[in-house]
Amino acid sequence: MIYPIVKYGQPVLEQQAKDITDFGTPELEQLVEDMFQSMYAAKGVGLAAPQIGIGKQIAVIDISTGEDPAQKLVLINPEIVAVEGTQTGEEGCLSLPSFREPVTRGKKVTVRAFDQHGKPWEMTGEDLLARAFLHETDHLKGTLYISHISPLKRDLIRRKIRKLQKADEWS
Ligand SMILES: [Zn+2]
Repeated sequence: MIYPIVKYGQPVLEQQAKDITDFGTPELEQLVEDMFQSMYAAKGVGLAAPQIGIGKQIAVIDISTGEDPAQKLVLINPEIVAVEGTQTGEEGCLSLPSFREPVTRGKKVTVRAFDQHGKPWEMTGEDLLARAFLHETDHLKGTLYISHISPLKRDLIRRKIRKLQKADEWS
């Protein structure tokens, strides 16, 4: 099923997600599949479980946006183990639609995680993939990309969102 994306303002987006302890269950398989479907439907390159209202340590990434199955990544209980260099580029988030801001992140990032069957894996990504690793693991800690921009810009975005909420255009 395709889940609706939870937008900024919902508490689940700013809470620490819980570790997964049961791997290889039909429920987990289904959730991972649904997360890919929901991500593709929303035209994202990454999606974390809190963004569909589930406070669990699962994220999916596919920087090929469905073009190349080999690039589908399932990150369960992920941990960033190395960050090298920096890159600055525009970043957005499905939970903050229509906003984009430049964010400085690591250029080369190594993540360690489990897949849905409980198999551990580790990968080093660069550029967009490095950014996705950081953005999605942040989500699982309850951190949004706007935490990495200036307080001034963050307040501006919050004010615009409050206006949209009042106009019932943000839910
Ligand atoms: Zn996001």
